[in-house]
Amino acid sequence: MMQIHIPTPLRPYSGKQPVVDVAAHTVAEALTALITQFPDLRKHLYTEQGKLRAFVNVYLNDEDVRYIDQKENAPVKDSDSISIIPSIAGGLPTTSAPSPATALTPEEMSRYSRHLILPEVGEAGQLKLKAARVLCIGAGGLGAPLTMYLAAAGVGTLGIVDFDVVEASNLHRQVIHGTSDVGRPKLDSAEDSLKAINPNVKIVKFETRLTSENAMQIFKDFDIIADGTDNFPTRYLVNDACVLSDKPNVYASIFRFEGQASVFGAAGGPCYRCLYPEPPPPGLVPSCAEGGVLGILPGLLGIVQATEVIKLILGEGEPLVGRLLLVDTLAMRFRELKLHKNPECPSCGAQPTVTSLIDYEQFCGLPSKSTPPAEMLNGIPQMQVEDLKRRMDAAEDLFLLDVREPYEFAIAQLGGHLIPLNDLPQRVRELDASREIIVHCKMGGRSQIAAEFLAQNGFKRVHNLAGGITAWSEKVDPNVPKY
Ligand SMILES: [Zn+2]
Repeated sequence: MMQIHIPTPLRPYSGKQPVVDVAAHTVAEALTALITQFPDLRKHLYTEQGKLRAFVNVYLNDEDVRYIDQKENAPVKDSDSISIIPSIAGGLPTTSAPSPATALTPEEMSRYSRHLILPEVGEAGQLKLKAARVLCIGAGGLGAPLTMYLAAAGVGTLGIVDFDVVEASNLHRQVIHGTSDVGRPKLDSAEDSLKAINPNVKIVKFETRLTSENAMQIFKDFDIIADGTDNFPTRYLVNDACVLSDKPNVYASIFRFEGQASVFGAAGGPCYRCLYPEPPPPGLVPSCAEGGVLGILPGLLGIVQATEVIKLILGEGEPLVGRLLLVDTLAMRFRELKLHKNPECPSCGAQPTVTSLIDYEQFCGLPSKSTPPAEMLNGIPQMQVEDLKRRMDAAEDLFLLDVREPYEFAIAQLGGHLIPLNDLPQRVRELDASREIIVHCKMGGRSQIAAEFLAQNGFKRVHNLAGGITAWSEKVDPNVPKY
């Protein structure tokens, strides 16, 4: 019996075995024995015409069989081993592969010299990096280290999608932007930093929100997508667009002190929806803007993403496919969970129901960007900050309830009565159910939960302040600090 080594992306079709034993006299016989034993492998290795697929390379010991005498008919001994090396393990779909760069300039030779002396990179690997086209969604906390290290490493083309401007509150983590960049578009600031790191890199800027309408068009010219977004609609949009366009999705997300990372949408591997078919209801999982984030955390996770992107381009190492890396920075503990491809996944399963991009705002239970603000949410009237201002100015009898934490109250407040959301059940008796109560928090998520709680407990005149104190500082009084 001789051994055939199965690459990670194809192991789902080999009963998860990394090595399969077969009896054979030639390379071709060995491969036939393999697909006889594991019929699901056939379509991954062969075209309908029965030819080995263009992106599958077969090695006999350390030689590519295309370069040995007799090619696939070469004889094999029991002590030999065959390795299947699909270029898809490198993550680059050959259908849209760019024309490879043929040589490095002398300047590049010295710039990348520490890469060139690594056997796993070498000149061939550096040329792959130069030819690679990576799209980063977001130039924020994750996007900063991600794009900076990819630029430094010599990734030839970096696309960035972002429509924000730099704010002071970004600077504690988004190290691609500096203090003097506050107020500038993030894309321009990022481009300046990346060009300063490596002028050889081509930066392609998409100053837009990623939407169902533009995602496929933007993705089409890139090989790998790196998702650095902080909201569920975009995360599902990126996932589905990656699955539909057959591109790997290098994913990370962060919250407070914890992060997670994986590679979704790679051949044979699971996608984000295999893990979470549907998003949590709005308000259940606060965003970083509400929950806070340790400034270093996106640095750590963005670099994990960059590492996975580089590995996919080089086709080296074991990508985070089918594995969810969990990082807990307080304990400084890294754990790993196995992820399984869900055969019934709505996006990447055998019978996908997501066959085109949908309205992801609606899917995530959020009001669509194009529709006017909702007047009611789960039975709670939504008050706009302008209305609250008018009614306060008219000295109407309102009770303003602030459900944020005391440390937030210390930063900025609207004169409300402070009962943090978690204390509300114990302190509900402090409230007068006969009065009209307007509940607010930072952005409107926690206050919605509080308002629903009050409504369930007999309070009939409860409103949620849409957008919270943040909307107040943006639309009514900029002197109220934004944090
Ligand atoms: Zn899936």
